[in-house]
Amino acid sequence: MTRYIFITGGVASSLGKGIASAALGALLQSRGYSVKLRKLDPYLNVDPGTMSPYQHGEVFVTEDGTETDLDLGHYERFTDVNSSVQDNITTGQIYNKVIERERRGDYLGGTVQIIPHVTDQIKDFIVNNNKGVDFCLCEIGGTVGDIEGLPFFEAIRQLGNELPTSKTCFIHLTLVPYIAAAGEVKTKPTQHSVKELRSIGIQPDVLVCRSERDIDRSDIKKIAIFCNVSEDSVIQAPDVSTIYATPKIYMNNGFDTQVLKSMNIKKPGKINLRKWNKVVNSINNPKAEIDIAVVGKYVGLKDAYKSLTEALTHGGIANDAKVNIHWIDSEIIKNKKNMNKLKSMSGILVPGGFGKRGAEGKILAINFARINKIPYFGICFGMQLAVIEVARNMAKIKNANSSEISKTKNSVIGLMTEWEKDHKKFVRDNDSDYGGTMRLGSYPGLIKSGSLAHKIYKSINIKERHRHRYEVNTNFKKELEKHGLKFTGMSPDGLLTEIVELKNHPWFIGVQFHPELKSRPFNPHPLFASFVKASMNNKN
Ligand code: GLN
Repeated sequence: MTRYIFITGGVASSLGKGIASAALGALLQSRGYSVKLRKLDPYLNVDPGTMSPYQHGEVFVTEDGTETDLDLGHYERFTDVNSSVQDNITTGQIYNKVIERERRGDYLGGTVQIIPHVTDQIKDFIVNNNKGVDFCLCEIGGTVGDIEGLPFFEAIRQLGNELPTSKTCFIHLTLVPYIAAAGEVKTKPTQHSVKELRSIGIQPDVLVCRSERDIDRSDIKKIAIFCNVSEDSVIQAPDVSTIYATPKIYMNNGFDTQVLKSMNIKKPGKINLRKWNKVVNSINNPKAEIDIAVVGKYVGLKDAYKSLTEALTHGGIANDAKVNIHWIDSEIIKNKKNMNKLKSMSGILVPGGFGKRGAEGKILAINFARINKIPYFGICFGMQLAVIEVARNMAKIKNANSSEISKTKNSVIGLMTEWEKDHKKFVRDNDSDYGGTMRLGSYPGLIKSGSLAHKIYKSINIKERHRHRYEVNTNFKKELEKHGLKFTGMSPDGLLTEIVELKNHPWFIGVQFHPELKSRPFNPHPLFASFVKASMNNKN
């Protein structure tokens, strides 16, 4: 039977609950157990797909095309277990389901209430689809005490009661701040947070205490007494130089053994952290350093490009190099002379994006990379804008643009309905809903043999994850090819462009998909590994 580990947070948000959950998943896996990680988000949006990256960070897309919370990205990167539609739920989805059932008459005239109807729906989500899984780790978003989190806390409290004690474990992550004026760490916020948790009926089994300073024995003792846990169950979680060091540090501090002990597993399987040691070693001892520019719109909030940042780090691991990312706001690139920041860069990347703001600046950056033969990597919007750049400046297609940016007769990028009138495959038009109407999730692609992409993937069959509304307009394909753009990756039916390259350029690749979503620290995505390598060669 599957065991359930619930991870809640207190005191403050952004303490790294997602990383702690992912690291615990990795540790259990390293002891030979199978794991699954789930995220329960107490906000009312149905999914994060329509939320601004400024508010919520990146939208992580799963193989099956679900738009999810960015924590699922951490889960996948740490455990290499692909998530699915069953692994992220929001209050919006729960209420949708309950109301749907009420309209159908499923509740037989009963009064529909938070307890038991909403909580039952949450419990269903937690316990379903776990066949063959040893541990299901469920992270509750937000912090204890949030009004919208209450039904979720109530649901896991009930599960704690319904399942045998050896099948559940409650972990609470808190902050133990260092107060400089007093010169000491403070345990009071943790005490209060646990008090709050206990007032809604949950006694934590293990406390994970984030702190920038060492927490000494007397403070651990204090936390243990006031929070009603054993001293061994108070786990120190210090700040780390790289998130990939967390599994080992947490293991050294007894995290996983204590979690297992709380579920009566006293002799856990032997741990093997070899692959993690290798990753950390490579990050901590780089043999080279390179500067890569990421030209985007949301550069003020790094969480907006979480998977991308990680994938670049992975590309660095593959080459024993440290990748210094320089975030460049595309809105400040106004003309061709304005390229000072890009001049010293070894590689230029334009990531995914939406809308016209900053698009012209990105096109100028692409133009700069193309002309100066700087390795260029365009991802999704970054690929579409590369096609526009080539169309305008090489093929001289007047006013070439994307219909997302401006309505022109020369929409080299557009909605498929604009040129494939009868095509039923992806019927999105300007009136489509915003949520869930994109080409989402994993799609196959065919690579042209002998191309750079072929050399990189070492295969002609690929499967990559998508999240976009617009496509390359194949009516312009011939004209663009004539001027040096190579269509080296297409959908198997030949209608959708997946990869473009450029003739006479050392490394210029645009991909319609998001390779960063599939990159792992111990298995860097080949496109990122190759881009970093090409950038290193460019530097020499
Ligand atoms: N805005 C573009 C589209 O919808 C690209 C999306 C993206 O970069 N994820 O097609």
